[in-house]
Amino acid sequence: MKKEKILKGDFKMSNITFKQEELEKFPYLYLLFPGEEVIALKGSMYDGLKGVIEEIKYGDERETENDCILDIVVTYHATDEEVAISHPQLNRTSICEVIMGEDELGFIIEAINRDTYLTAAGVPVCPTCLEGIDEVIVQTIQTEKYKSYKGHLLKQDGGHTEEITTCLRCNNRLSFRQ
Ligand SMILES: [Zn+2]
Repeated sequence: MKKEKILKGDFKMSNITFKQEELEKFPYLYLLFPGEEVIALKGSMYDGLKGVIEEIKYGDERETENDCILDIVVTYHATDEEVAISHPQLNRTSICEVIMGEDELGFIIEAINRDTYLTAAGVPVCPTCLEGIDEVIVQTIQTEKYKSYKGHLLKQDGGHTEEITTCLRCNNRLSFRQ
């Protein structure tokens, strides 16, 4: 008897039928949903602002003719006063229900990683550079404990290994491991 394929994990998948070439460019498109937290990436007018997806529009439903696959309707969390200081270029225009493209945002994708924003292309977002990073530096630090005994050092239990991951561009420490 032929066994049915069992999906590992229990995550939602988008009901949009993406084209093969769209998923090749942005493999996480099918994991984007309203309600997910996002951050605007560098190069967008809203860079660094955090928000939530209100709606995702594809194909004929789209409102813009932007050169992207999705219209992602985002409401940002900041107050008008905060935005006036951090993003004066927005000239106090509303940060509610802003239409963004999939390449302008980092997403908290629960099925993959709840702690780190990921781009739709599938790479983590550096919180400092606000860009997707495909190269990082990992330093391994080996810590060992010794006890001094009659002029000698005796190795003790309780040593540990720590891995520190930093962004290759800005050298800032990253909280994720790849
Ligand atoms: Zn960086």
